[in-house]
Amino acid sequence: MKLIPSLIGGEDVGGARTAPVLNPHDGSEIARLSLANAGVAERAFAAARAAQAAWAATPAVKRGEILFKACAAIEERAEELSRIVAEEAGKPLKDARGETGGAVQCGRFFAGEGQRLFGRTMPSNTVNKYAMTIRQPCGVAVLITAANTPAPNFAWKVFPALICGNAVVLKPAEDTPISADWMARVLIEAGVPAGVLNVVQGLGAEIGPSLVEHDGADVVSFTGSTRVGREIAAKAGAKLKKVSLELGGKNAFVVCDDADLDKAAKWASLSAFSNAGQRCAAGSRFIVFDAVYDAFVDRFVAAAKAQKLGIGEDCDFGPVINERQLTNMLGAIERATAAGARVLTGGRRVGGALAKGFYLEPTIIEGAKAEDHLSVHELFGPIAALYRAKNYAEALQLANDSPYGLTACIHTRSIDRAWNFVRAVETGVAVVNAGTFGSEPHMPFGGRKASGNGSREPGTEALDVYSDLKDIYLVIDPP
Ligand code: NAD
Repeated sequence: MKLIPSLIGGEDVGGARTAPVLNPHDGSEIARLSLANAGVAERAFAAARAAQAAWAATPAVKRGEILFKACAAIEERAEELSRIVAEEAGKPLKDARGETGGAVQCGRFFAGEGQRLFGRTMPSNTVNKYAMTIRQPCGVAVLITAANTPAPNFAWKVFPALICGNAVVLKPAEDTPISADWMARVLIEAGVPAGVLNVVQGLGAEIGPSLVEHDGADVVSFTGSTRVGREIAAKAGAKLKKVSLELGGKNAFVVCDDADLDKAAKWASLSAFSNAGQRCAAGSRFIVFDAVYDAFVDRFVAAAKAQKLGIGEDCDFGPVINERQLTNMLGAIERATAAGARVLTGGRRVGGALAKGFYLEPTIIEGAKAEDHLSVHELFGPIAALYRAKNYAEALQLANDSPYGLTACIHTRSIDRAWNFVRAVETGVAVVNAGTFGSEPHMPFGGRKASGNGSREPGTEALDVYSDLKDIYLVIDPP
């Protein structure tokens, strides 16, 4: 059985215990994860600290050249990475291939930033005095990622952290450690100095807090649940560490009475079910005008019933990441129906040939109240809840009635409604006539309220997370 160790200073470092890595498609064990303990974490910080200064002293353009090489190497071996992701995350290979492409695109964007890592020059209020800002690395960046799209999740954080001149201590999600191990090795082979990129493998609850609290961590960037994000913010806050939090969502998808209903149902289905609903930006609250409610719901339910589950090339989506998450989802559905909601389609674990995997049927539920558990909590699975709205004002009010504020979309033919919505909805991303998800590597992504702490990654805004600005004043005596 393949053992996945931590990777520190380019060396494999094992922990005292191991845990199984399962293929969510059939529950089979595909590797064992060597679980890092505090000693392993110490070694990672020591390696990162020792290597960081030389990396920071390497011109950013040169750092970019190395990262371009790394992207070319990933692209050349894209099929290998895609197969790893498909297996460890349990998804169709075509989806994994798309994600590998996304990771490379993100890597190239940040490699190019090595040529543009600019500060600003500004006028001074004093004669012969010059004022400017420069970017400097934070130092050691602790990066903690989620399991849903493991290759892009790696790229979103590692590439901007590296181009800014930081050394990295990465802790990938324990469900998808193999792709992170693979990508880190490819980056090191491409020329990233070994101590600059360290991977600490282990269980989040066990090893995560000690990484966040470590005095050697200068910046912490986390993608994951709001619950863990709050813990990290508290720990990092106590030590006044810089922290970037990309957290959960409970994203609204609004269907107006003037929408193209076929198109809306297609996008609704993609928003709710693609990647088994495991997207922070997935649509989960579908707010539909009374006037088109039945016509839209007929189409949406038909689209849900047409979803093909599995990992074949003709499949729409695979399992959720683990048994625990599946159990949570089934519990939430049961709780919703006990409170009076109705399941229109789905709602059960998939049996038959997929019984061993962590599969949930595409599920659509109506009749939950806005304050019910189902409406308020992120489930991170293929579960859509429907709500009725009398008019635009009520739809907007419902869309904003959420503890989260990550993404939202509206389907309408009215430019007035569309423009009002994108400005008034309390989210970090707003979309017209498409899905709730869809982020491009050059665009800043992030949310409001419980979806984050105001930071944005990727895009050039990620450079603000991974670098510190320094004000420089230069005073001259003219000859
Ligand atoms: P999670 O919070 O359970 O785990 C995320 C990461 O944190 C993992 O690496 C895990 O090992 C680690 N972790 C767990 N407990 C920790 C602790 N106490 N201290 C430090 N690290 C700890 O989330 P998940 O279930 O793996 O991922 C799903 C969540 O991620 C959803 O809420 C989803 O919305 C969110 N997400 C957000 C974005 C975004 O950009 N906003 C993108 C993808 C996923």
